[in-house]
Amino acid sequence: MAFVNENFLSLASGYLFPEIARRTKAWQDKNPGQKVLRLGIGNTTEAITPHIAKAMHDKIDLLSRRETYTGYGDEQGDTALRTALRDFYRSEYGVVLEADDFFISDGAKSDAANIQELFSPSMVVAVQDPAYPVYVDSNVVGGRSTGYNGTNYDGFVYLESNSSNGFIPDVPQGKVDLIYLCFPNNPTGAVITRSQLKRFVDYALENRSVIIYDAAYADYIREPGYVRTIYEIEGASRCAIEINSFSKNAGFTGVRLGWAVVPRTVESENGGPGTIHRLWNRRQCTFFNGASNIAQAGGLAALSPEGRAECRKLVDYYLGNADIIKKGLESIGLVCYGGVNSPYIWARCPHGMTSWEFFDYLLEHAHVVVTPGSGFGPAGEGYVRVSSYGHREDVVAAVESIKEHVHG
Ligand SMILES: *Cc1c(COP(=O)(O)O)cnc(C)c1O
Repeated sequence: MAFVNENFLSLASGYLFPEIARRTKAWQDKNPGQKVLRLGIGNTTEAITPHIAKAMHDKIDLLSRRETYTGYGDEQGDTALRTALRDFYRSEYGVVLEADDFFISDGAKSDAANIQELFSPSMVVAVQDPAYPVYVDSNVVGGRSTGYNGTNYDGFVYLESNSSNGFIPDVPQGKVDLIYLCFPNNPTGAVITRSQLKRFVDYALENRSVIIYDAAYADYIREPGYVRTIYEIEGASRCAIEINSFSKNAGFTGVRLGWAVVPRTVESENGGPGTIHRLWNRRQCTFFNGASNIAQAGGLAALSPEGRAECRKLVDYYLGNADIIKKGLESIGLVCYGGVNSPYIWARCPHGMTSWEFFDYLLEHAHVVVTPGSGFGPAGEGYVRVSSYGHREDVVAAVESIKEHVHG
């Protein structure tokens, strides 16, 4: 008799995006012919840029000839790409890492979900609240929660991010073992300064915990003083794993390519020096056959000077959208956070509405779809996330419609 993994049954049903789709469809059925304007999704919309697209075309040409065909590559990723990432961290961030600290993957979400496998099921996990759902869900499946209590998961430590702490939570009160951090943050758009992140690194070193740092939006940071990689902080290479991706800066959401930095120097209580690095290598070699060689050719091109210039322009485009959204919402009196150094605007619902009430209001009156903040954790209640991913003309139309129909 086959029993399913009980931990999977502990997951609360994936409610947020299906419910958005359900309500949007219900509205469309009631209002045939009316156009829905979408500011809800975290999915890129602009084309892959020419230099990067050409590199992928060229790779397909190589694969199309017997003489230059290649099959499986290294599970850890192509040496050229790992080396280019090492060089990029050095030139862009002034951070010294080894090429074999970089593990290429099919995206940051998989790495964010899989990394918990390295740690004992008894580990106490801290997450930001609100947060990108994969950190919590993967640890529920990893058996680190005793269940959903209707608000959140028992056993996890929720680090509340709110307007009084500028959406930068304090370090945990007691001792935790794993800490998930994401900056620039999805969904709040918050960015973290060196001194703020240093407190987490110092906490981790003191408590011998490991930080899993999601830097997927690092390229959106345009103002000085904010952390783009956790290894900018002294001591981080002893206590931090970083995950990142080409999804949001090169438009690879569909192409699929990411990386994890797992330095040899990251420490654990058991197994001796380098164990976490060695086990991640072991895990990837057994459970993963490497990222697509076409995608990796694109990633390598994205790190070249031409590729970097193209990615910068692409990110500029979305930041331009973010600016239009933020200014538009503020012009009608809505209180907004993020939207600078980040593609997300975290807007407070007016008149004390809940996240879902404001969602319904925007859909009904402005025909605009946003993401209810409560879907990212209890501390997200009373907010909505507005995304700058969209064609400029659609973003402008959505903002105009909100300005016409909503009063802050
Ligand atoms: C979009 C996003 C990622 C990227 O995920 P991929 O799997 O690389 O596409 C990672 N973390 C966060 C917080 C994101 O919003």
